[in-house]
Amino acid sequence: MPHLSTDDIEQLDQQLRLRREALLGAIRKRLHRGDDAATMALANPYADVREQAEADLLADTDIGQLRLELDDLQAIDEALARVAAGSYGTCTGCGGRIAVRRLRAQPAARMCLSCQEAFEQHRQTPP
Ligand SMILES: [Zn+2]
Repeated sequence: MPHLSTDDIEQLDQQLRLRREALLGAIRKRLHRGDDAATMALANPYADVREQAEADLLADTDIGQLRLELDDLQAIDEALARVAAGSYGTCTGCGGRIAVRRLRAQPAARMCLSCQEAFEQHRQTPP
């Protein structure tokens, strides 16, 4: 018997879709603002060098944030694909069940808590 009820999956699916919409909106806004910055740089090729460095720094921060949002979006898309495939809620690490409580807090979670912790520990280990 699946550990998630149809209601659970429907609710989590809805959460994923809402989060996806919000993320897409944020990403679109960010990209649009990026366009403006690029246009401004083109319009003013003799901009002060220090100002340019500050603008670059700002762009870097924006790109870092954008990368996080794209990662998030990818995790959500993968989760929605798992919903469609009927494997949602199954840990991609050990194949075990991801606790419903964990999914409610983090609907795009790929792994159960112990796999996630092991994964993060491994990632933080210096080479
Ligand atoms: Zn696991």
